[in-house]
Amino acid sequence: MAKYVYFFGGGSSEGKAQMKALLGGKGANLAEMASLGLPVPPGFTLTTEACAQYYKAGKKKLFETIMPEVRKHLGKLEKTTGKSFGKGPNPLLLSVRSGAAVSMPGMMDTVLNLGLNPETLDALIKQSGDERFVWDAYRRFIQMFGDVVMGVPHHDFEHALDSVKKKYGRKLDTELTTEELKEVVAQYKKLYRKHTKKAFPNDPMEQLKAGIDAVFGSWNNPRAIKYRQLHDIRGLLGTAVNVQTMVFGNMGGDCGTGVAFTRDPSTGEHRYFYGEYLLNAQGEDVVAGTRTPQQITLKGSREWAKSAGVGEAERKGSYPSLEETMPRCFKELDQIRVKLEKHYRDMQDVEFTIERGTLYMLQTRTGKRTAPAAVKIAADMVKEKLITEEEGVLRVDPQSLDQLLHPVFDPESERAAKQLATGLPASPGAATGQLVFSADEAEIWAEMGKTVILARIETSPEDIGGMAVAKGILTARGGMTSHAAVVARGMGKCCVAGAGDCVIDYKAKAMKVAGVTLKEGDWISLNGSAGALYKGRIDTIDPKLSGPFGTIMKLADKYRNLGVRTNADTPHDAAIAVKFGAEGIGLTRTEHMFFEGDRIVSFRRLILVAETIKQLKKKHDVEKIGALEKAVKKDRKAVAAVKQYKQALAELLPLQRKDFEGIFKALKGRPCTVRLLDPPLHEFLPHDEAGQKEMAKQMKVKPADVKALVESLHEFNPMLGHRGCRLGITYPEVTAMQARAIVEAAIKVKGSRPEIMIPLAGSVTELADQKKVVLETIEEVKARKKVKKLDVLIGTMIEVPRAAVTADEIAKEADFFSFGTNDLTQMGCGFSRDDAGKFLGEYVAKGIYEYDPFQVLDRAGVGKLVDIACKLGRKARPKIKLGICGEHGGEPKSVEFCHTVGLDYVSCSPYRVPIARLAAARAAIMEKRSSKPKAGKKSRKRK
Ligand code: PEP
Ligand code: MG
Repeated sequence: MAKYVYFFGGGSSEGKAQMKALLGGKGANLAEMASLGLPVPPGFTLTTEACAQYYKAGKKKLFETIMPEVRKHLGKLEKTTGKSFGKGPNPLLLSVRSGAAVSMPGMMDTVLNLGLNPETLDALIKQSGDERFVWDAYRRFIQMFGDVVMGVPHHDFEHALDSVKKKYGRKLDTELTTEELKEVVAQYKKLYRKHTKKAFPNDPMEQLKAGIDAVFGSWNNPRAIKYRQLHDIRGLLGTAVNVQTMVFGNMGGDCGTGVAFTRDPSTGEHRYFYGEYLLNAQGEDVVAGTRTPQQITLKGSREWAKSAGVGEAERKGSYPSLEETMPRCFKELDQIRVKLEKHYRDMQDVEFTIERGTLYMLQTRTGKRTAPAAVKIAADMVKEKLITEEEGVLRVDPQSLDQLLHPVFDPESERAAKQLATGLPASPGAATGQLVFSADEAEIWAEMGKTVILARIETSPEDIGGMAVAKGILTARGGMTSHAAVVARGMGKCCVAGAGDCVIDYKAKAMKVAGVTLKEGDWISLNGSAGALYKGRIDTIDPKLSGPFGTIMKLADKYRNLGVRTNADTPHDAAIAVKFGAEGIGLTRTEHMFFEGDRIVSFRRLILVAETIKQLKKKHDVEKIGALEKAVKKDRKAVAAVKQYKQALAELLPLQRKDFEGIFKALKGRPCTVRLLDPPLHEFLPHDEAGQKEMAKQMKVKPADVKALVESLHEFNPMLGHRGCRLGITYPEVTAMQARAIVEAAIKVKGSRPEIMIPLAGSVTELADQKKVVLETIEEVKARKKVKKLDVLIGTMIEVPRAAVTADEIAKEADFFSFGTNDLTQMGCGFSRDDAGKFLGEYVAKGIYEYDPFQVLDRAGVGKLVDIACKLGRKARPKIKLGICGEHGGEPKSVEFCHTVGLDYVSCSPYRVPIARLAAARAAIMEKRSSKPKAGKKSRKRK
């Protein structure tokens, strides 16, 4: 029979850190800490396999199986602690907490103080000598058990508590006397009976079983499901349940509780020990944001006081550091910090409680961090030799780099802006958006395409959907470890937390701050790195890419085999990409150039007569425009059409040449793949009446003629229509003009390395036809310019499945393949690029496709086509260059695939270049770690 329960504590453990999948992160690390001899309250963990059984076999069956094991471990726990569960004189109280393999903060349930009943209550009073504390623990337990386990509405308990407070004129919970707390308990019990039709259970085993049931059940509550969706957490069995001896941080002035990070989770700095605590408090008080948490170290406390505008005397009196209040515990905790970092070789996020002067460690886990912090910590730890270079690369999630690559506020504009308030710099970055005050509104506004900033007094897990769509998050209450701060950091979202000057009125949908009233829809700006709130919108600028970022990128370049290029159509984009480390351009979409300025006019003139030219060529049985010119000499109308066609091309040539010169210059000798015209011609024409009228005026024709032209070019399935090389085959003069512009620019800009790419070829004959035109043009230009040697590669995109499966044929005519996986996905899966978004979300939700195949390359299908094409292509032409230029080229999972099939490079948008560099390095390192190189596969070096 499977083992479902694992013990930890008393200096040894059955589990260890590597058993996260089975014991959950919390359980595995508690076991590890106990084995390390750290002060962990003993307990046991019910495995994630038990959770899976809870759902598979049903809870009744599961409990029949696990309860004997639970009882056995409970006995061991009683022995280890010298306490007894549900009995005096030394009663054992338990916490029951969730803990999946991947941390999902606040998403699942917890029950504390389990085991309290009238008997243990009395025993505990005798033992602790603190009657008030015990009654307070009891009322908290009833509230938590009632709410979490039995679903008694939370606000009913709050209401009951408030009514007793009101009756006795108490403002704070802490002012309630023992007798008053007894009254609260009585009311709570009544409430419990009213809602559950049962008395509050005194039997501790009944309490424990129900607690375990609730935690397993919370794995599939709506917010946990949403969290897993948002964070792409898949493939887990369920949550583990940790049953642990309770320790109390709220038993008096010599008690406390806190959370700390071994390095700053926001910036990655480790100038001191980053953390917050509260005296005489329970864990939830620190994260709830209802009291101002204090700093762990004196240095941190002084820095906090400075930024919060608190004077030294007030700081020392009201907000002293742990270093000052409990120096012995602080020292022990600081030593544990060092020990844990050395042991785990990563930044840890710890929770601790001090009960009557004794320190207990309740949790350690790999700390969540912002992208800047992840990069800094990885670079620093490599420098400190705590981790290897390869580990440094693996420590940074490529996708998270996105946060570092996006603009920050322009300092000038930020200085000029009106600052309304300061809060905590909870999650870095800059955000400008329109104010909304509820998560629901945030989702509605975002749906309408608006950029919003979500402002809340404090956030809770229910707000998760709104937080995900907001550009930034502002809270009036809460510290660096508040829900808002933790979740925003996880999402890589800018967040200013605890901006206490903001008075938010949900009802009025307004916020008062610094004498200004801001209403829903007003623009505000947040600087999450400085904790500043501004009125209005602020300009942004590009980020800097030096320091730790540069270190990690350098390491990525050292370990990757894949080349990384960019998709760029302008010198500006090319220059940005080069700055981000692009080694060339993998795709220049020339059609974008046709829209700029007057050139659309020239191109439309060409389109206007294109069909006539085609018909005339057919009629006169000629292929070349020169021959046609001769053949139609006497036909005035035809002469005019040819003239217009040639004229348009002549106008476009110098403009295109200039475009390419700019791009080649920006690339400074790096290779550049230029794709010839790709979209169907109707995309260049106006489809609305006003636009058609305007075009008619410019072209000096009747609006009806333009309308007729648009109609004649209409296609039922344009993506499968007259586009790509099919256009070039009909209008070889366009191909020739583009090839000429490319080659002339390359001659002009010394060191250029042009690669001419023919789009959408499905058969080798299509490619051969266009290649001939390009080659003839190159020879003509070379002769005219008297250039002897000019290296121009000619290749094709692999976008049509037919091309992929006949790649050996195609390779005979191609120096390179570039996989256009946007179209290859469209044609490979049969999903329209333009329409499939309507149902692909549902497909992913139902698991029909694991990911949207337009975002993450569909390895099993489209990937197979890529793999086949690579193999066939290399067989026919061993030195063929292979790359990808579809959107997948900058998506980490797809980049990994590209590495696996042995492409030479990926090409992606400029801002994704660093992401691709890092993803490529990770793929290479992971491959090296997971296996010996595959049979027959030689280790590749970048070309
Ligand atoms: C592709 O199809 O993958 C591609 C890069 O071309 P486009 O997106 O321009 O069709
Ligand atoms: Mg394409």
